[in-house]
Amino acid sequence: MLRGPAHTIIRNSSLISNILLRKKVTMSRQIHSRRIEGLDKNIWVEFTQLAADHSVVNLGQGFPDFSPPNFLKDAFTRAVNGDFNQYTRAFGHPPLVNILAKFFGKLLEQDIEPFTEVLVTVGAYEALFCFFQALIDDEDEVIIIEPFFDCYESMARMAGGHPVYIPLHPKPESGRLMTSADWVLDPAELANKFNKRTKAIVINTPNNPLGKVFNHEELQMIADLCLKHNVLCISDEVYEWLVYDANRHVRIASLPGMWERTITVGSAGKTFSATGWKVGWAIGPKDIIRHLQTVHQNSNYHCATAAQQAVAEGFVKEFGRLGAPDSYFTNLRQELQLKRDQLAACLTSVGLKPIVPEGGYFLIVDISAVKVDLPVSTDTEEPYDYRFVKWLITNKGLVTIPVSAFYSSEHKKGFENFIRFCFVKEDSTLSKAEQILQEWKSTLLTQ
Ligand code: PMP
Ligand code: GLN
Repeated sequence: MLRGPAHTIIRNSSLISNILLRKKVTMSRQIHSRRIEGLDKNIWVEFTQLAADHSVVNLGQGFPDFSPPNFLKDAFTRAVNGDFNQYTRAFGHPPLVNILAKFFGKLLEQDIEPFTEVLVTVGAYEALFCFFQALIDDEDEVIIIEPFFDCYESMARMAGGHPVYIPLHPKPESGRLMTSADWVLDPAELANKFNKRTKAIVINTPNNPLGKVFNHEELQMIADLCLKHNVLCISDEVYEWLVYDANRHVRIASLPGMWERTITVGSAGKTFSATGWKVGWAIGPKDIIRHLQTVHQNSNYHCATAAQQAVAEGFVKEFGRLGAPDSYFTNLRQELQLKRDQLAACLTSVGLKPIVPEGGYFLIVDISAVKVDLPVSTDTEEPYDYRFVKWLITNKGLVTIPVSAFYSSEHKKGFENFIRFCFVKEDSTLSKAEQILQEWKSTLLTQ
């Protein structure tokens, strides 16, 4: 099977008939649907390929370069060697939905019905996709807080919806180290974004790429607007266990009146450092979850049974030791806080200004003071941070991600001077990155 331009699928085995068929199909009509218009470029596809093409230290895409815990890998092996190789229940393997309902029931202080209020999906991505496909109609407005994980925009658009952006504003520099808590919503600006057409708002806490952890007061302000305007909320909490210092992860679904209108999304990939397993979930009231089930049963149907079984066993283990010193969640958080501090200290020592994240895997840094003669790009529209990161990869062997990828096209321009570092990496990987930055230090900054 060949794929021609515009994703023409050509099944004929003879090359000549392939070419003829390709011509005929592409010339007679537009092949792609309007839903995917303008969505063909993807930051992860582009920069993951660049990282693979060069010999580099990779602090780009968000995945651990260390293994998941042994108890989880052992559970997967047992599942594959045992009886977990065939289809399971479409909406979630029973042991997994049972423990997710129990676990999150306790955290949300809410009775959660495992078979109707939990949907297991192919990663958090699919949970998000089901939400948009199931609940967003043509012309519905969806409020998205910038910077945002890029797929929210594409998914809202593919559903026919209209994204409405509200930026987090950085407070003016005060001379001290900035943190993600210094990036805040303007309450009046936020209130102005809600109207009769608003169907949903997307929350992501801890946020990717900034690491902001929305506090109780900020979430209450959002909740009040959702209640006032009868708006749904999708809360992407894939980094929920990674909250540093004295910060606390607040679940918006636990605020009064919010369970009824919120879908909370999680990821075993992030929770157990196994991003390739692609197990995620959506949790919420049954009258919303049933619509997500409709999308799921007609698209993915379910995700790998053995992976679900292993994740279920992982959660059972963690349930018994939640908050205890031997909890994997506690240990991962402590380890990552040290890595965050190590990276922030290194960036500061070379004269850069990190925005210290309160949570998550990522740290963003201001590059406006860095002096680099970038080659002229053939793409005149390409943002400065994209060009900068490409230069960093090819000339210094260090991969990061341009932060303007997390902004709408109308607001990219204002945020071309930040790049994102991922710190869920072995200490040896972070040390190699540090070495690159230290060697480069002498030529790094403008005077
Ligand atoms: N949401 C956010 C904020 C993310 O950073 C990611 C990337 N892992 C996802 C959702 C998707 O998670 P998954 O890999 O479980 O599909
Ligand atoms: N969530 C990950 C990140 O932000 C990767 C997502 C992806 O590769 N599609 O780096």
